[in-house]
Amino acid sequence: MFTYIDPTVRERLVAAGHLFRINRDGDVIAPDHSKGGGGSISILGPIPLPLAFGNKHYDVQWYACVRNTELSKIEDIADTLRAQKAQESFATLASSMAVNSVLLIGDPESWTNPLVRVHSSCLTGDVFGSERCECGPQLQSAVELINDDEQGGVLIYMSGHEGRGIGLWAKAATYLLQDDGENTYQANRSLGLPDDSRDFTDAASLLKYFRKDGPFRLLTNNPKKIDDLTAAGLTGITPVKHVFGVTESNRRYLAAKRDWGHRIRPEDIGDD
Ligand SMILES: [Zn+2]
Repeated sequence: MFTYIDPTVRERLVAAGHLFRINRDGDVIAPDHSKGGGGSISILGPIPLPLAFGNKHYDVQWYACVRNTELSKIEDIADTLRAQKAQESFATLASSMAVNSVLLIGDPESWTNPLVRVHSSCLTGDVFGSERCECGPQLQSAVELINDDEQGGVLIYMSGHEGRGIGLWAKAATYLLQDDGENTYQANRSLGLPDDSRDFTDAASLLKYFRKDGPFRLLTNNPKKIDDLTAAGLTGITPVKHVFGVTESNRRYLAAKRDWGHRIRPEDIGDD
C-alpha cells in the first residue's frame, strides 16, 4: 500500500501488474493517478499470505484495496511531508486511510458459484477473540469454509466497519451502554448514531471485478447486506447461513440481531 512513499516504486508495481485500478463496475481502468476517480479503487496484489488459524494453515492471495479519492488526498499530503522531510508524520497519515482487504482462495477463472464472505472489521472480536460478538469465529469459519469448498472464493475484509460503521471509539461507548441494559441497536441510537451505517459500495466493486457477472454464494445472516450489494448492481446472490461462535456472552446480542431482521432462528442461538 505504500505507493505514496516513492513514485518510482509505484511505477514499477504498475508495470508488473501488481498495482491497478478498477471502477465501480469492477472494470480495470487506466493506472494513472489522476485526481478524483469517481469511487475507483486502487488494488495492490496478489500477495501470497500464508495464514494459520487454530491448527489449520491456509494459502491465500491477499489484495490490499483503497478508494482512490482517499488515496489521492493521502498522496497530496505525502508529497508535502516528503518536501518537509517530516517522515515521522507518515504513520499518522497512513493510520487514517481505510484499506480494505481481499483474501482469495482458488482460481477465479474456474469459478461458477464461489463462496464469498464480506466481513466487517471488529478489533475486539477478530483480533482479541472477544465473545461479546461472534465476529472472530465467523471470520475464521469463513476462511475455513472457503478453503474447504470445491471452488474456493473470496473474503472481503472491510476495515472501516467497526461497530457497524460507527467506529471503535463509539463502539466502546456502546458496550458500556449495553452493560446498563440497552441492546446493541438502542446503544447506537443513544449516541445519536445509525443502527447500521456500513457502506458496501467498495465491496460491490471488488466483487464485480473478481466475479464479473457470475453468481456467488454469500455467507451472511443479514438481509440488509444482500439488499445493499444488490442495490450496487450485483446479481445472482445465494445467501448461506453463517452462525458461529454462539456463547453465553453474546446470546443476548445475537437475539437483538435476530429481532432486528437477521436470519437467525431461535434454535441457532439456543434460545427456544
Ligand atoms: Zn464483533
